[in-house]
Amino acid sequence: MKEILEYITNYDDFPQKGIIFKDLFGILREPNIFRSLIDKMASSQEIQDSDAILAIEARGFIFGSAIAFHSCKPMIVARKPNKLPGKLIMKKYDLEYGSNILTIQKESIKKYKRFSVVDDVLATGGTAKCVSDLILSAGKEIVGYSMVIEIESLNGRNNLTGPVNSQYNII
Ligand code: AMP
Repeated sequence: MKEILEYITNYDDFPQKGIIFKDLFGILREPNIFRSLIDKMASSQEIQDSDAILAIEARGFIFGSAIAFHSCKPMIVARKPNKLPGKLIMKKYDLEYGSNILTIQKESIKKYKRFSVVDDVLATGGTAKCVSDLILSAGKEIVGYSMVIEIESLNGRNNLTGPVNSQYNII
């Protein structure tokens, strides 16, 4: 989906030096582009084969909820610490910039077996691997990963097992 590139803005050295931040919010300001992106992501095999969408905070929520709505699938959230109540599973991971912890409510995944992970950008793959490890540790399965863009040079997909479906690859 080459046309989405036009609506992605690159910001050099944000949030820290050396990072080229991909700002995807321009896509949301173009309803037709956003709609065709979601049509495409929601029709992927991984989404179709999953019991639930697992969306990663924060921008993954935007794309994940649109995909969940479109495909009529439940959506589960993976959030940063101190955001979710109840019993949690949690894991620390390294980012392209810094490190973080992600948490998932135990109760939220109980009913489902096969999850499809959704996020805006696949960079090093640390974030997606973290949620995937959490799901696997709970005895569940990951069907695949749906990303809007993938920064190919960072080889994030090598950290992941299962198919990665990204709409555009950036080197
Ligand atoms: P990673 O764990 O390195 O694959 O990073 C993916 C997560 O960090 C996603 O949730 C992205 O939103 C965010 N991220 C990492 N690198 C970038 C980037 N260059 N531009 C925008 N978001 C990024």
